[in-house]
Amino acid sequence: MFTLINLPYAPDALAPVISAQTLSFHHGKHLQGYVNNLNNLLPGSPFEGMELEVIVRKADGALFNNAGQILNHNLYFTQFQAPKADNAPAGNLAAQIEKQWGSFEAFQKEFEAKGAGLFGSGWVWLSASPDGMLQISQEAGAHNPVEKGLVPLLTFDVWEHAYYLDYQNRRPDHLKALWNIVNWDEVERRYTTRG
Ligand code: MN
Repeated sequence: MFTLINLPYAPDALAPVISAQTLSFHHGKHLQGYVNNLNNLLPGSPFEGMELEVIVRKADGALFNNAGQILNHNLYFTQFQAPKADNAPAGNLAAQIEKQWGSFEAFQKEFEAKGAGLFGSGWVWLSASPDGMLQISQEAGAHNPVEKGLVPLLTFDVWEHAYYLDYQNRRPDHLKALWNIVNWDEVERRYTTRG
C-alpha cells in the first residue's frame, strides 16, 4: 500500500514560481490519483509488496505508468524550497557540473532546452552514474533514469498539469523560473549518497 507523500513546505511556499492552486491540483489530485491507481492495480499482481523502484524497473503497462509517476513526483516535490535569489548548487555537485559543462549557466541552458524541446508529456532529468558522472536526459511519459541504472538527482516535470494554470503554454518561462526554488542541499544529498 503506497501513500501520498507530505510536502516538506507550506502549500503557498513556492509561489509565485508554483502557485498554491497548481500545487494543490498537482499534489492533491494528480499524484493522489496515481497512488490510488497503483494501490488498486497491485493486489494479485506479481509486484504486490515490492518497493516502488523495483516496480518501476520491472513492470509495464498501467502498473509501470502509475508507479513511475509516483516515483517521479516524489522526487520532484521533495527537491523544492521557497524561492531564493542567486540559487545555485555548491559542493561536490557544483564542482562536477563545472567540470562537465564548464559553468552552472551552461548546464542550466542545456537542461532548459531539453525540457522545452521534449515533445508531449514527460520529464527532463539530471542523473548520475555510479562513478559520479552526470547526464541530462529526456524521459517520455512516466519514465525515470533508474530504468537505465542511473541515480535520479533533479527533475523538471513538463506535463502540462505541472504549469498550465500558472504559465499556460509558456513552458520555457516555467522551466526558467523553477531554478529559483530548487533545494540544492537535497539534490547534493542525492548525489553524495548515490549507489
Ligand atoms: Mn506531474
